[in-house]
Amino acid sequence: MTQLNPPTPELVAKLTAIVGEAHAFTDASDQAPYLTEWREKYVGRTPLVLRPGSAAEISEILKLANEARVGVVPQGGNTGLVGGQIPFESGEEIVISTERLNRVRHVDAAGGYMLVEAGVTLADVQNAAEEAGALFPLSLASEGSCRIGGNLASNAGGVQVLAFGNTRDLTLGVEVVLADGRIFEGLRALKKDNTGYDLKHLFVGSEGTLGIITAAVLKLFPRPVETATAFVAVRDLDAMLELFRGARAVAGTNLTAFEFMSGWCLDIVTSHVPGLRRPLEGDAPWYVLLEISSGSADGAAEAMMEGALSEAFESGAISDAAIAASIDHAQQLWRLREDLSEAQKFEGGSIKHDISVPVAAIPEFVTRAGEVVEAVCAGARPVVFGHFGDGNVHYNVTQPAAMEKAAYLAQWEEMNDAVHALVADMDGSISAEHGIGRMKREALARFRSETELDMMRAVKAALDPNGILNPGKVL
Ligand code: FAD
Ligand code: ZN
Repeated sequence: MTQLNPPTPELVAKLTAIVGEAHAFTDASDQAPYLTEWREKYVGRTPLVLRPGSAAEISEILKLANEARVGVVPQGGNTGLVGGQIPFESGEEIVISTERLNRVRHVDAAGGYMLVEAGVTLADVQNAAEEAGALFPLSLASEGSCRIGGNLASNAGGVQVLAFGNTRDLTLGVEVVLADGRIFEGLRALKKDNTGYDLKHLFVGSEGTLGIITAAVLKLFPRPVETATAFVAVRDLDAMLELFRGARAVAGTNLTAFEFMSGWCLDIVTSHVPGLRRPLEGDAPWYVLLEISSGSADGAAEAMMEGALSEAFESGAISDAAIAASIDHAQQLWRLREDLSEAQKFEGGSIKHDISVPVAAIPEFVTRAGEVVEAVCAGARPVVFGHFGDGNVHYNVTQPAAMEKAAYLAQWEEMNDAVHALVADMDGSISAEHGIGRMKREALARFRSETELDMMRAVKAALDPNGILNPGKVL
């Protein structure tokens, strides 16, 4: 591995000249928003934050950084959950923010694609699609802040993966600045293209380690005409699986979301987030938020929902359901799920996991993980929720009520190791959607085979031989 250097004052001056002084931050107060992430787990340092305005400027920056062997950390909306977008504490890497690459260049609803720059927020991408009468289905609780380049770089998942796939499945083309400053102009809008290796996929999910994504061509879909949303009380996780299978059988790919949470999740989100009320009487051990969408205005979505639920009522799998009577009501139900990440903060320290197993193995995973957690830290409280239909559980573990937060968080590694060992035993993934970044680098090295790691290192060495792009992340 090449030795990297901190930028010299001369280099800082040259890089500043590329973007202009107004877009080069050296002051601590200007830099602060780029150096702390959402959970405040990582706080980095940097001599320079750059906000370039074009791919050409990024190309010039990388060319110089590569020649000088200076590390570069790409950053989009800074909502990543594994520390990938934050420079290390040593303060030797520069940060490149994409936030000024914020133009929606072209929306072609009839052709089913749109061309956007990397710094457009996901919410603005969704809105631009909607204005053209189309749907861009990627949807995450962070959509107001995260940027599409960051979504591609982390291959984000979210709540519509069940029907539309993750970001990779929504990407038709990319434009990427390579480590040496060359530009890969791959902004093609082709659905079918088997001309050699499909290079765009190298950059989707590469977490800023292989190139800086500057623009993307995204897939668009027809907007649903009717949507039925229900919040359902479920007997146990086997019953949830039964409900899932039944809903899939009735609705097929019209089942656009199947999100679950434990009873305690509903307690904390309704007690800590102002304005949220319990949608059902009584307590159930588990809840599901189901969404069924249809392209016709004939009541089909509602009919499918009723079909799925009535079967589950009859078998005793579910005990109660609130079906949204209006768009407002549906949004209220969605907030119970979306505000859950935020609500956990009020219960003290939380040790995070983002795992996946085959859907049918979720009940077994949750039972066994409960035992694992109790053995590591008696009284710790699992906050179990996530994208049930994708087999993706955000298995977060909140501290015992009476414990010191710092003492609890000191067990982060031990808890992760124990839960991840279970995941490995069940042939699951230790990072279903948040990536590896800095947080799970050691874990990746343990949970992927030497052959897989060798292939990853070979790709990295080929595209970034000096290792300047997001050094110390992923590999
Ligand atoms: P950043 O955080 O800025 O960066 C993420 C990574 O991508 C870093 O490694 C960075 O170096 C790299 N990167 C950023 N931009 C570029 C670029 N243009 N070129 C190359 N590399 C780049 N994630 C999910 O998958 N599903 C969820 O449901 C979900 N829910 C969330 C809910 C909340 C409340 C929060 C705070 C986060 C959630 N996330 C979720 C995580 C996060 O929002 C996603 O990973 C998102 O895709 C990150 O986008 P960003 O623009 O904020 O990227
Ligand atoms: Zn998620």
